[in-house]
Amino acid sequence: MTSVSQKWQGLTIEVKGADSISKETVLDECLKEWLSFLNQMDFFCQEPGHLIVQDILPDDISGNLSFWLKRAWRRERAQMATYDEEQDQLMAHNVFWQKEEVTSQNLGEVFKNDLLPLTPAGDQRALLLDRDGIINVDSEYVFKKEDVQFVDGVDELIREANQLGLKVIVLTNQSGVGRGYYKEEDVIALHQWMQEELAQKGAIVDDWFYSPYHPESTEVQYKKSSYTRKPMPGMALMAAKKHHISLEKSLMVGDKISDVLAQVDIKTLLLVGNYPVANYPHLCQSHHDVIKEMKQFFS
Ligand SMILES: [Mg+2]
Repeated sequence: MTSVSQKWQGLTIEVKGADSISKETVLDECLKEWLSFLNQMDFFCQEPGHLIVQDILPDDISGNLSFWLKRAWRRERAQMATYDEEQDQLMAHNVFWQKEEVTSQNLGEVFKNDLLPLTPAGDQRALLLDRDGIINVDSEYVFKKEDVQFVDGVDELIREANQLGLKVIVLTNQSGVGRGYYKEEDVIALHQWMQEELAQKGAIVDDWFYSPYHPESTEVQYKKSSYTRKPMPGMALMAAKKHHISLEKSLMVGDKISDVLAQVDIKTLLLVGNYPVANYPHLCQSHHDVIKEMKQFFS
């Protein structure tokens, strides 16, 4: 059996077994499909790799090429996903897994809805907290300590998490930076101050992550749909990598539907009261509810 191969973005695509049609045509089709697949999935191939597309019959080409490509990709290259900060993207040599077997019937659905990147390895469990509405009262674009009012029960929640041996990590969208309302230095200084205030009450926060970006930012360096901006999971993946966290074994607490992170498998509680949460299934009325749920989840 002969085969031809072609390189694209460092990935070798090799086609075998399509004897009755031009293999170059297959390769062209592959690349076309591949590009549209990559664009669709919003990730980028940079690492060298090797994808083998086997036994493509002429009849399969038109309808099923993309299916075979994706299946081959998934089978051959399923590894852990990592978030690349410099590229602000998931790296493509790290692939997705899905809960169910992909078939030609459920392919579209699985790849659109159920694709989850594997999270970086680690056994550490964590309590991931949204900031505005969970740590401090959400009075919109808070950046000065004078404007911070800590939410009732937040120190107790963090102390309980500390006692359970969890990492406590804050993930906060701070588009106020991108919108020009305040600077990154303000965010960093505020977090430092909040950290100290909480520590005085025995509540230890291990790390703070913020995303200063916004697609409509007036400042060019902040104007983008960043993978770090919730609901995208960039900040959670950064935290997971840095602190060796298993997101599947961790708990997220927020107050907005966008705190329910896309693509990663992490149980998320939403605190009721600040934003519409529709029929979201895991709602809490107060931080005491959150503490109860947290203890149950980690027991
Ligand atoms: Mg919030």
